[in-house]
Amino acid sequence: MTLTDLAARVAGYVIHPDFRDEACGLRCCELALAALRTGDYGVGAVLLDAAGNTLIEAQNQVFSGGYCSSGHAEMRLIDRFESELAGQLNPDDLKLVVSLEPCPMCLSRILLAGFGVVKYMAEDPAGGMVSRLDDMPPAWQNLASLQSFYHAHISDALRQLAQDLAQYGVAELRKNLLAQRQISSS
Ligand SMILES: [Zn+2]
Repeated sequence: MTLTDLAARVAGYVIHPDFRDEACGLRCCELALAALRTGDYGVGAVLLDAAGNTLIEAQNQVFSGGYCSSGHAEMRLIDRFESELAGQLNPDDLKLVVSLEPCPMCLSRILLAGFGVVKYMAEDPAGGMVSRLDDMPPAWQNLASLQSFYHAHISDALRQLAQDLAQYGVAELRKNLLAQRQISSS
């Protein structure tokens, strides 16, 4: 699987009318692809209002803007939400869609941000935390009870595309991540 193959799958994907989250899901995949092209992890996220309008889009940017350990797509999206829209919109009315199951860092932040609905496309058994909500400390579980977490309503093909985008180049990216730690500890 090459980046060119992934790009062709994203560009050629036809939205399936039977699934509610296809349009925003495909957009997340486009953002994930854009992240891969800048040497970052292939993850994208979109924040929508109650009417389904896109408010904010974000993509992973851990490496390309200068190393930023919090540069996950969800973290960048929430940063922008808080700096641009906080106080104007009730987070409970908003929906976050992300191409990969959020990690512990992002899930914590999502719980604090209070978005009413959170949907993810591909599962992440190795690093995802949403499927392990019961392992969060009680106060965090309490916050989670105020929000709804779902698998995105998308076709199997789109879910696989999100999965493949998230998996692309991870061995190399992990090396970059570990190299960063060696620099900062020397
Ligand atoms: Zn994360």
